[in-house]
Parts: sequence; C-alpha cells; structure tokens
Amino acid sequence: MYDLVIIGAGPAGLAAAIYAGRFKLSTLVFEKLSPGGQILLSPLIENYPGFPEGVSTFDLIDKFKKQVEDLGVAIENKEVLEIIPEGNSYLVKTSEGDFKAKCVIVSSGAKSKRIGVVGEEKLIGKGVSYCGTCDGPLFKNKDIVVIGGGDRAVEDAIFLVNYAKSISLVHRRSEFRASEILVEKVRKNNKIKLVLNSVVTEIIGDSKVEGIKIQNVLSKKTSEISCQGVFIFVGIIPNTEFVKNILEIDEFGFIITRPEMATSRRGIFACGDCIRKSLYQVVSACSDGATAADSAHKYLLKQ
Ligand code: NAP
Repeated sequence: MYDLVIIGAGPAGLAAAIYAGRFKLSTLVFEKLSPGGQILLSPLIENYPGFPEGVSTFDLIDKFKKQVEDLGVAIENKEVLEIIPEGNSYLVKTSEGDFKAKCVIVSSGAKSKRIGVVGEEKLIGKGVSYCGTCDGPLFKNKDIVVIGGGDRAVEDAIFLVNYAKSISLVHRRSEFRASEILVEKVRKNNKIKLVLNSVVTEIIGDSKVEGIKIQNVLSKKTSEISCQGVFIFVGIIPNTEFVKNILEIDEFGFIITRPEMATSRRGIFACGDCIRKSLYQVVSACSDGATAADSAHKYLLKQ
C-alpha cells in the first residue's frame, strides 16, 4: 500500500510529488499521456517567477520531472479509471492494474473546450488544432485563424506569427480576457488582424480547412475568412469524469476544494486546473500542489 497516489503529472501534480518526496511519503504518480499536461500546449511561459525572459514550457517541465525523479518518486504512464474508497484507504483502478493508497491527490488537469460549430469535429487534424506549439510548424506561410480572447489565444497568436503568412484573431467581444501585456503585443503586430465582436458559425472544408464563416454580433452581418488553419482556444474542461461519483464537483465539472485542497472526501485532495478557483496559471498550480501534499502529509500523520 502506498502512502499517496497522485493522479496527473502537470505542474500541480509534479509540485505535489516534489513535496511528497521531500516528506518521504511512499508516492506513485500516474500520468495518462506525458508529464506536463496542458501547459505543454503553450510554447513559452512569461509569467513564472524567476525567468524574466520567459521560459520554454518543455524546459520547465523537464526540470520539474527531474526534481521528482531525483527524490525517488516514480511517474507511471497509466490512465486512472476509478477511485474506490475501501475503509480508511483507496483502491485506485488504472488501465493497467489496481493500486492501494492511504490517500490520493487528484491533479488531473483539463482539456481544450470545443466551440461546437459545423465542421469543427470533422476537420480536427485537417487544419483544426487546439495546440499552436504542436501544429504551428505545419502552417508555414499559410493563412491562419485563431479563435478566443483569453491568454492562450493571444499567446498562441503571437507564437504562430513565427510560421503563418497572416493571422486573424477572432474574438466574440471587443475586450480581451487575456493579460494586457500580451494584448498590447498582439495590437502592435502587423501580421495579426483583430476580428472583434465576431463569432465563428462554421468551419468550411471537406477534407481540409478552407475557411470560416463568421457573424458580427453587433451588426449581425455574416462574412467568410479564407484560411488553411483554425486554432481554437476557448477555455478548458476539467478532466474529472472519473471522480464525479465520489467527489463534490460544480456544474462545469470542477472539483470543489477547501483552502487546504481537501475535497468533500477525507483523504482525497485535489489541485491544479481540475479544481474550481480564480486563477489557472502554472504558478498557482504549483502552489495548489504543494498545499495538497502538505495536507496529505498532515492527514497521514493523524492516521
Ligand atoms: P479562458 O481564459 O477561459 O478564455 C477563453 C476565451 O474564449 C475567452 O476570451 C472567451 O470569451 C472565449 N470563448 C469561450 N467560449 C467561446 C465560444 N463558444 N466561442 C467563442 N469564444 C469563446 O481560456 P484559455 O485562454 O484557454 O486559458 C485557460 C486557462 O489557462 C485560463 O485561466 C488562463 O489564464 C490559463 N493560462 C495560463 C497561462 C500561464 O500560466 N502562463 C497560459 C495560458 C493560459 P469571453 O472573454 O467573451 O468569455
């Protein structure tokens, strides 16, 4: 039986693993894909303290991972399917076997939200993408549309400038949710055209993206933008399906936690992008992860 199982190896899970390792808890981390989580979809982090020039997300996550492994905490590539309470402990069912733990930290992160328009699902991988870092190089000298007005849309538009011939940034309002420092960079970049107060109504194309249809929400006028790539960044959906029957979650699927990262069930803590909170950033994910591990440690001492 492990002291602690951590589910998800994004910044929150890795920070929790570092703290758990230093508390000398016998800890196992499960990750469905590869360590890093959603942040690997962004190429550069400019607001993580200690890196005034910004830091590549790959380099940062590599360092987190090394720190975890140097502490003797293993990260296993398995998908967690279910957590079953068993007396004072938990049975963690994975795609490759079951594991017992005295307590659990859920740091399962989130995934990209769809806009849900005609053509979107059909054209994923054929010009529709949710990851500038992964797919940007495929769009050298192409016309690209980026959809959204949050940090990710604006950050990725700036990144995609390195490849694209032109970028149209389509946002449904005139004000951006993204940090002003990023918005300023976008406004100053003459390769990026702002298409504001506009919603996408369709992505056009049969076997590959050929354009999008948009509607101006103020004038109700419709128009088309010809493009070969559509990058969609309209928010996140938490990966909490596997805990929805045992933990309290909100109407959007985010896990409800207390300030010490405790969930509605004793011995299960949660942190990072899968919980309801006000700031979804790497720096706050790390803070949540450290708090969750500290709470798990205190919980185990009391047991
Ligand atoms: P976000 O901040 O929730 O922004 C989503 C954007 O998409 C908003 O501008 C929203 O418009 C728009 N939107 C939502 N649904 C839409 C729809 N159906 N059609 C058209 N537009 C739609 O999401 P995000 O940019 O994906 O970022 C996710 C989280 O990660 C955020 O909390 C963000 O701050 C965080 N993040 C952190 C870092 C970092 O730590 N450095 C980097 C990137 C992202 P409205 O504004 O009108 O609602």
